[in-house]
Amino acid sequence: MAGLSLRSTPLPLQTEAEENFTLMVASIGSGVIPPRSRRLIGDSIRLPIRAVPRWGTTTVEWPGNIASASLTRASPTRLVISMGGVEVEVELRQWPIITGGRRRGTRWRFLCPQCGVSRDALHFIDGAWGCRGKNCLIPDGLGYPSRHRQRFCPSIARRERLRRKLIRARPGSLKARRLREMIAQQEAAMLANVRQVNSDLRKRSKRYDRHGPE
Ligand SMILES: [Zn+2]
Repeated sequence: MAGLSLRSTPLPLQTEAEENFTLMVASIGSGVIPPRSRRLIGDSIRLPIRAVPRWGTTTVEWPGNIASASLTRASPTRLVISMGGVEVEVELRQWPIITGGRRRGTRWRFLCPQCGVSRDALHFIDGAWGCRGKNCLIPDGLGYPSRHRQRFCPSIARRERLRRKLIRARPGSLKARRLREMIAQQEAAMLANVRQVNSDLRKRSKRYDRHGPE
């Protein structure tokens, strides 16, 4: 009895696999571009905390006339964002700035209206203001485009770290001079990386011309 049921199962499984394969080939041939796996910060309208007025109302506009919003500081801890006729109230909170273990004043941050986490920026996606966090606006959260770029070119991150050190170094000092040299080296490495990526792309497009898609 067991042997009989085993013999009868492979058939439906096989047809299913065949169907999937046909579908995959069809989507490649028809030029369907698979969706990008992760949404990036730059894909959404971003409202940084520094755009919030100390009091009263201001209007903020995003480049390319994609949107404009009016921001009203209803009270020190309450912001009303009005965009496209939709008003959303967002709570603001003061956070201490701590550098070197010492408290140096305070700064304001948003409390995300969706998940309640404190944030320096809010994003607008599919009609809602929220944040870049996981399970907030997007299940995976919003990624930083630079993080993706830096996977291909670590020099970008190294140069950034050196630049931050240079800001703290005394101008004209030996340390500042050495940092400048190291920054120049990283910039050369970044350029070399760009040339390498470009040449790889050229090679790939030539290969594509000769043989078609692989
Ligand atoms: Zn959130």
